[in-house]
Amino acid sequence: MRQAKSQLSRAFVSWKLWRTFHANGTAMCGDCVEKEYPNRGNTCLENGSFLLNFTGCAVCNKRDFMLITNKSLKEEDGEEIVTYDHLCKNCHHVIARHEYTFSIMDEFQEYTMLCLLCGKAEDTISILPDDPRQMTLLF
Ligand SMILES: [Zn+2]
Ligand SMILES: [Zn+2]
Ligand SMILES: [Zn+2]
Repeated sequence: MRQAKSQLSRAFVSWKLWRTFHANGTAMCGDCVEKEYPNRGNTCLENGSFLLNFTGCAVCNKRDFMLITNKSLKEEDGEEIVTYDHLCKNCHHVIARHEYTFSIMDEFQEYTMLCLLCGKAEDTISILPDDPRQMTLLF
């Protein structure tokens, strides 16, 4: 019993460490953006950059285009997760890490976005036909 408990708390501690690390990694740099994690309503970007929120690179002071690197797509429990980094084109300073998820929950498609630069957003779209005439045809 005691052993199981200590194992559990150790797992919890490393999870907390990972979370802290991940949060620090995601925070990257708030100096390059106008507003950190702005609320974007239901605008989920799977690609690209929200340039309006970019005030300029805090390292080289240039307001240039951004590069997108380290793009990856993975699937976890039926959820698709797209991640990529926003980089300063001039000095390759990492401005933000972008995360976009897509999943199907029952009859809904769910989209989420989390990015220091592009902000946070979520959207839910019904995959059922919402035409009432089509509904009556089913009965
Ligand atoms: Zn920066
Ligand atoms: Zn730069
Ligand atoms: Zn982004």
